[in-house]
This record gives sequence, structure tokens and C-alpha cells, in this order.
Amino acid sequence: MPETASAQPIAIVQPAARRSRQARVCWGARVVTVGGDAPVRVQSMTNTDTVDAIGTAIQVKELAQAGSEMVRLTVNTPEAAAEVPHIREQLDRMGIDVPLIGDFHYNGHRLLTEFPGCAQALSKYRINPGNVGKGDKKDKQFGQMIEAALKWDKPVRIGVNWGSLDQDLLAGLMDANNRRAQPWEARQVMYEALVTSAIESADLAVRLGMAPGQVILSCKVSGVQDLIAVYRELARRCRYPLHLGLTEAGMGAKGTVASAAALSILLQEGIGDTIRVSLTPQPGEARTQEVLVASEILQAMGLRAFVPSVSACPGCGRTTSTTFQELAKDIDDYLRAQMPVWRDLYPGVERLKVAVMGCIVNGPGESKHADIGISLPGNGESPAAPVFIDGEKAMTLRGDHIAQDFQRIVEDYIAARFGNGNPAAAKAA
Ligand code: SF4
Repeated sequence: MPETASAQPIAIVQPAARRSRQARVCWGARVVTVGGDAPVRVQSMTNTDTVDAIGTAIQVKELAQAGSEMVRLTVNTPEAAAEVPHIREQLDRMGIDVPLIGDFHYNGHRLLTEFPGCAQALSKYRINPGNVGKGDKKDKQFGQMIEAALKWDKPVRIGVNWGSLDQDLLAGLMDANNRRAQPWEARQVMYEALVTSAIESADLAVRLGMAPGQVILSCKVSGVQDLIAVYRELARRCRYPLHLGLTEAGMGAKGTVASAAALSILLQEGIGDTIRVSLTPQPGEARTQEVLVASEILQAMGLRAFVPSVSACPGCGRTTSTTFQELAKDIDDYLRAQMPVWRDLYPGVERLKVAVMGCIVNGPGESKHADIGISLPGNGESPAAPVFIDGEKAMTLRGDHIAQDFQRIVEDYIAARFGNGNPAAAKAA
């Protein structure tokens, strides 16, 4: 044994267990559990005008088909509230049973009372305690929303956001801070206001009759370190299920990376029962991108498996052609496109690992670690592509149709391993 090797094995790392209660978000026979031992759920939000019932139903369908397990829509006006039952009907007609969440601000107490069809068609209400009402109206209007949740047997999310923080509460905490011998930093007072607002509102909802498990909390901020600080404290102080998301994450790589950084750290600590990635779509980008990113975060963390994963090397000077990049993309696109059908046909296929590598340096090694892998020829290598199946070299592909041949081999492998009646399929399921 080398002198520097330890006699003790290196600990295997995995996300810590979550300790939240469990909420149930239901529509018809569909029950989405949130918290406790439920998988961490993926959520998204529409950006259509809710008054446009058809347009909104179509976007909800797209988000649900992309993997969103709950979809939130804004309910901001009487016209929007009136359309919510129609959106639900459209979805039911299309066979989309994803639960809908109503996002209420300022007038939620009125809309939920005056539009019972809306209150009934929604599966959860999001209440922002920062804008539910001012002064003595606040508790009354908050109480009216809880009354609707109790009447229609719906869970609620108490969703605090630092952009719309309860100003009375913040002012009170600021005053108290000024009286301290050693005042906290303003940022720390803001953290305290977020956490206190969420927990006090949740506790009030419970006193009004909500089951503690039916109250989900969120405290969204837009800074990565701020989010980590706030959610650690929230998780320390309560067992309400937690909805996690970096608000106003931004566009493209910035929004994706910031969300992944913040959410991954918290998820690793066992914090977060449902997530949303608040990406600003780039012009022409599909709204479903936020679902894709959220799913990839959970899959990368080893918390969920949604689609077979394709490992591909980044390429370097050893591969001047784009063949392997194209093959990696084609295989990835193909596997994703098949998932709606394969999910039922081939249970367990989402755990498949495929490798597409650019040359002999790491190609065979990486391919052997995958269920099925291919090592394409790099510069100066003979034009042959060895294929590895379950760690063994199974064949070598040559010629102009390597991509098509490899896709067919992947298809055959999936059918043989995950197909009905196959013992390996039963094991994988
Ligand atoms: S596997 Fe080969 S082509 Fe890919 S990055 Fe490594 S050395 Fe470069």
C-alpha cells in the first residue's frame, strides 16, 4: 500500500436527510406530496396573462410535460380569477392533472371569497404576508385567505420575498436593533425580518385551523449567500415544508449558475422540499427552460433521476472535428425526446448512464463506468469507435454511420434491460 494512503475509507457523501413535515397538494386523483420523505419537487410558474385561459393552459401543459410537478400562475384581478376554472377545465380535457397554485398579492382575500370557482380549481394558495394588507387589516385579510384554504381543503404557501417584506415588522426590528449595545448589520436585521415574517404567519395560519403539515414556507432573496443564511435559519427554527428558490435569479448562464450554487448547497444540507428556478427567459427561449434547470440540479445532486444522463468530454485539441459533440447532442436530445413514452414502457430507464467521449485518453475508461459508452477516434487515431456495454468492450463501429449505429445499440440495450418481462427491468424498477 502506498505510504500516503489512509487505512480508513474515504466517506461517501450524500445529501443530509430532510426533517420537514409533509404537505399534500392534490388535484383529482393526483397527489403531490411535499416534504418529509417525498422526493424534492420541481415547480414552475407561467408568464402568460392568466386572463388568456387558452394560452395559459397551453403553457401549463408544456411546463407539466417538461417535468414540472406543480405550476403556479398569477391571480391578480377579478378577470384572472374568473378564468382559473376555465384553465383547469382545459387542462383536465387535455389529460393534464398537474396541480395549479394561485399566486395572490394585495387582493387575494377578496378574489378567493368572491370567486369560489377559482378557490376550488386551485390546489394551493400562495400568500405573501408582506402585502396581504396594512395595519389592522393585515390579520383580518390574512385570516380570510386561510378561511378559504380551510373551506376548500387546500394547503398554503407563506411566501415571503425580500422585495415585498412586511414593512411594519422590518421597522420594528430596526428600532429594536438601534437599541442594542452592539447593533446587528442591516443585512442581519433583514434576515431576521424574513424568517420572523414567515414563521409568525405560518404559526398564525395554524392557530386559525390549518394543519401544520399543510403550511409550506418560502423566504426568497436574490443573493446566493443571503439565501443560504436565511434558509439555514428557517430550517433550524421550524419543520414546515420549505419551498426553495433564488428570486430574480436573472438570465442565461448567470441565473442558472446562481440558482444551482444556492440550491445545491442547501439541498446538500437537507434543506428544501420543493424548488423553483426563477430564470428570466432570453428572447425566444422556452419557459420550460426553468423546469429543465431545476430537474438537472436535482439529478446532478443525486436526489432525483428524470432522464438518462449523457457524460461527454469537453473536447480538446485531440478532436478537431465536431463529430463527437454532435453525437453527444443527438443522443442527449433523442433520450429526452423519448422519455414521455419510455417512462411507462421502460421503468428505471431514467437511471441509465451513457458516455460519449472524444478520444482514447479518457474515452475507454469513462465509457466503462457508464452503462453504455462510445469512444470516438481523436486526431491521428484509427477511424474506429469502440462501444462498451456494462463495462465490457462489446463491438467497434466504423464508417460514416457511427451515430445511427450507436443510437440503435442504445435503443436495443434499453429495450433488453428495461423492457417489460425482463428480470433486469424489474430490478431496475
Ligand atoms: S477524452 Fe480526449 S478529446 Fe476528450 S477532452 Fe479528454 S483528451 Fe480531449
